[in-house]
Parts: sequence; structure tokens; C-alpha cells
Amino acid sequence: MSRFLFALACGALSATAWSMPVYSQTAPQPSAAPAAPARPAFATTKVEGTDNVYIFRYGGHLSMFIVTPKGVIATDPIGLARPQAVTTYIAEIKKVTDQPVKYVIYSHHHFDHIAGGKPFKDLGAKFIAHKRAKERLLELKRDEVVIPDQTVDKKRTITLGGTTLELIHVGRNHSDNTLVMRLPKEKIIFAVDFIPVQALQWRNMPDSWPDEWEESIKKVLALEWDRMIPGHPGPGDRLGTKDDARAVLTYMQELSAEVKKAVAEGKCYETAMKEIKMPKYASWANYEQWLAGNIERYCHHLRVGI
Ligand SMILES: [Zn+2]
Repeated sequence: MSRFLFALACGALSATAWSMPVYSQTAPQPSAAPAAPARPAFATTKVEGTDNVYIFRYGGHLSMFIVTPKGVIATDPIGLARPQAVTTYIAEIKKVTDQPVKYVIYSHHHFDHIAGGKPFKDLGAKFIAHKRAKERLLELKRDEVVIPDQTVDKKRTITLGGTTLELIHVGRNHSDNTLVMRLPKEKIIFAVDFIPVQALQWRNMPDSWPDEWEESIKKVLALEWDRMIPGHPGPGDRLGTKDDARAVLTYMQELSAEVKKAVAEGKCYETAMKEIKMPKYASWANYEQWLAGNIERYCHHLRVGI
């Protein structure tokens, strides 16, 4: 097994890998400076300009929920190895409404986003995911993940209490089963892990389809929306914009072009991983930690074709 495939398998199968927080919550402080106030473990925020769209953050993960007069639509339970995240999520919803949670919709099958949903199931929520997510979850057989009751292929529209939510599969990217959730009236999307806001792609982009990924971002850009709720907080907790999505697409195009040159010069993997720098993106989160891994992924993709 090649080094890349080994890393990929570990990434796909190890629960601890997926449970690692993606963003460091506590930056080291110079000793002379006053300590920054600790970031609370969780927060619930109503999205500005809406009266019913909320973001629930627990640690470094985000989930969107929508409150309607006929019930609540929740999304990723974000409860891997931390059941308190899910009970807190439900308690936070109950602070806003007495309405029952009718749906829980999975963004994609990675455990750090979707594990821990049983308390929602016990309340009677129906679970929805892309059909490939259900297939993968049935193969992986993990007790802490609720298997979806219903699946989506290319698109499904949910209407509840006057709110319309589209579930759209824009192709394979960071996983082969990502659903983009779009609120057409509010012009908001919830897009997890494949369009990070001013941040590099995760580690060596395991479990991914780099070329189709670029196409999927183009499809997202073609949808009508103004604001994007990401799966992990962006800088200053701001939401993403189409400019952010375009920047991610450009980063991937520029990095793959650099790696293509490195492949032609026989520099993949090690030399390319050391030599290629992308200074335009040095201010993005995780640039130092994950650039080499991103290069490794493109070396593999361009040499082996997967
Ligand atoms: Zn993921």
C-alpha cells in the first residue's frame, strides 16, 4: 500500500482522526500580553437579517438549524465522542422554540459532523442524507451514528412551516456524498468542509476527488446565495461569501498547477512537499500545518490518477 493510500485509509477509518478539532481554539499568547478571554465551549447565534435561521457551534464545529411554526429542521449533530454536544444542541433549540425537531440532515458521512444523533432520533426526528452517505454508514457500522431514514440523490426540496430548504448534491468533492443545503428565500447555504472560509483544505484531503471538487465549487457558485455557513468557524466567526468560494477554487487550481510542474520535474512527493510555497494564502488558517499534505494529495492525484 502506498504511503498516500495508507494515510487515506487511516483518515477514513479512524474515529480519533475525524474527532480532532480542525481549528485551534487557543492561540499561544505572548507572556506580557493580557490573556484572551476563553472561548465558550458552545454558542448559538441567530443569522443576522433572518428571524429563524440559527448557527449552533460546539467546539470547532458548526451546525445550522431552522425554526418554523410547524417544527425544526436541524442538521449535523456534531457529537463524536462528546454526547454533551448533542444534548446541548437540543437544549439550545428548546430555548428558542417549543416546536419538535422534525428533521436532522447530514452534510456528509464524516463522523466528526454526524455522530451522536440518537437523542434527536429519540425525539422522533427523521434523518436524511445523500444515498451514498447511507451506503457508507451501513458499511462502516458505527453504533454512535444514526442511519438515515431517507436519502437524496441529486436534489430534494423540503418545505416546512413556510420555509423552503433545498438539499443539493453538487458532485463529489471532500466526500462523495456532500449535500449543500440552500435556503432560497434567505439566500443562505450551509456547505461543510469543501469550501472552508480563508482556510486550507484539511490535511492531505483524504477521501476526496480533486478534479470533481473544482467542478462542485463551480456548481455552488452558480446557485443563488449571499452567505455561506461553513462546517467550521471562519475568521472572526464571519460567514462565507461567493468571493471566499472563488478564492478556494483559485487556491486549488493554482496549487494543482504548481504540483503538475513538480510532477514533470520528478519532484513528487518529498521535494515538492518541501519546495512548493503558496505565499498568497499564507494568512489562511492551517497554511503551515496542511500545505505539505495538500501538495501530497495533488502529487498522488496527478501521478496515479485518483
Ligand atoms: Zn468531512
